[in-house]
Amino acid sequence: MTPPHVVVVGAGAAGLMAALAAREAGAQVTLVEKTADGGRKILISGGGRCNVLPAVPAPERFVSEASRTLVRALLGAWPLREQQRYFEDILDVPLALEAESAKYFPASNRARDVRDALVTRAMALGVERRFGAEVTSIAPADGGWRITRADGTIAADRVVVATGGLSVPATGSTGFGLDVARAMGHTVHPTYPALTPLTAAPHPYADLAGISLDVTIHARSAREEARSTSGFLVTHRGYSGPAVLDVSHVAVRGLEAGGAPATVRVCWTPMDAAAWTVALLEARGLAVNFVARHLPQRLAETLCDVAGVTRERTCVQLRREERARLITALTAFDLPWTAHEGYRPAEVTGGGVALDEVHRGTLESRRAPGLFFCGEVLDAFGPIGGHNFQWAWSTGHTAGRGAAHH
Ligand SMILES: Cc1cc2nc3c(=O)[nH]c(=O)nc-3n(C[C@H](O)[C@H](O)[C@H](O)COP(=O)(O)OP(=O)(O)OC[C@H]3O[C@@H](n4cnc5c(N)ncnc54)[C@H](O)[C@@H]3O)c2cc1C
Repeated sequence: MTPPHVVVVGAGAAGLMAALAAREAGAQVTLVEKTADGGRKILISGGGRCNVLPAVPAPERFVSEASRTLVRALLGAWPLREQQRYFEDILDVPLALEAESAKYFPASNRARDVRDALVTRAMALGVERRFGAEVTSIAPADGGWRITRADGTIAADRVVVATGGLSVPATGSTGFGLDVARAMGHTVHPTYPALTPLTAAPHPYADLAGISLDVTIHARSAREEARSTSGFLVTHRGYSGPAVLDVSHVAVRGLEAGGAPATVRVCWTPMDAAAWTVALLEARGLAVNFVARHLPQRLAETLCDVAGVTRERTCVQLRREERARLITALTAFDLPWTAHEGYRPAEVTGGGVALDEVHRGTLESRRAPGLFFCGEVLDAFGPIGGHNFQWAWSTGHTAGRGAAHH
C-alpha cells in the first residue's frame, strides 16, 4: 500500500514535530511554511534560550473552554519523559534542568540548537521542505486536499494545520488556521492575547521601572481568577515578568467582556498578613527600613507612602490603622493597570479551535475527515515554564501520527 501523503502547514514547534512524527510513522511528508526558515518563535523563546519543557506537567493550569480531563489527556498523550528523551536521544539536544525555575533548557542555552535539530532531522528523514511561501487556502479536493500557495498547488491525502495563533505577528502568525477551521464548520472560541504584559496609563509607579522581584499575584474578574508566584517586573509602560504574564488573560478577557475590570493584587513577599503583623509588632526602628529588609528600598518607600506611613515613623509608633494599611499594601496591593500590550509581545494566543471537535487520539477534525490540528491553533494555553512547547510537541506528535496512520 502506498503511504499517505501528509502535508503539514506551518513549520513552528507543533508543525515540525508533526512532520517528524508523520514521517517516522511511514507517511510521505511535505512541510510547507510561510517564512524562509520556520521555527521563529522557537528562536526568540525563553529569551533566546528556549525553555523546551517544564520539569513537571501542569495541565490544571491550562486555560481552555474544554474540560480539564480533555486538556490533561491531550497534553499527556506523549508523556513528558518521552518528550525529554526524544530531544536528548533522537534530536541530540541535551537538556539541562534549571532547578530554581523547574524549567528545561538546551544545555547549550541556545534556542537555535532546538530549531535546527528539528529541521535537520526532518530533512534527514526525507521530509520535503517547501518554505518561503504562504498557504492561502486549504480545501477538500478529489477525496483528499488541495493546498494553494502563490507558487502553485499541492495535493495531499491529509493535512495537518499547525499555523499557530495570532501572537507576535513578526514570527509568521496571522490566524490563517483559525480561518480554515471556521470555513470547515468548526467552533473557534474567541481569541485573545495571553501571557502579555499589562499597562498603566497614567503609570503611577513609572519611577520604579526596572525593579524586579518574586511576588505572588492574584487576578480576579467576574468570570475567572488566576494566581502565580514568580518574577515581577515594573516597566516604563506598566508591568511584566512571568507572574504578570501568567495572570494577564484574566485582565484581558475581563476587559473584552466589559463590566468592572479585573482586580490584580500583589503580595510582595512570601510573608502573609499574619506573618507581617507579628513581624511589625516585634520590630524596632523605622518602619520603612524594616520593610526595606524584605524588599527593594524604592519599593519599600513607595509602599509606605501608599499606606500613609511617613518615613520618620518607627514600627513601635505605628497606630493600628497605619499597620493595617501597611500590611494591606504589602500583601494585597491593588495594582493599578488600565490595558495590556496585546498580540505584539503576547507569548501565546488564547481561544482557538474547540478541543471537543477533534478526535482526542489523533486530533483529526470531527467536521472534516483528513484535516488535523495541533499546537497553538487549538483552544488551550499553559503558563510560563515550557508548558506551551510541551503542548506543541505533544499535540504535534499526536496529529502527525494520526495523519500518517489513518
Ligand atoms: C517571545 C516568546 C517567548 C516564548 N517562550 C517560550 C518558552 O520559553 N517556552 C514555551 O514553552 N513557550 C514559549 N513561547 C510560546 C511558544 O513559542 C508557542 O506556544 C509555540 O511556538 C506554538 O507553536 P505552534 O507551532 O503552534 O505555532 P508557531 O510557533 O506560531 O508556528 C506557526 C508557524 O506557521 C507558519 N504559518 C502561519 N500561517 C501560515 C500560512 N498561511 N502558510 C504557511 N505557513 C504559515 C508561521 O510562519 C509559523 O512558522 C514563547 C512565545 C513567544 C512569542
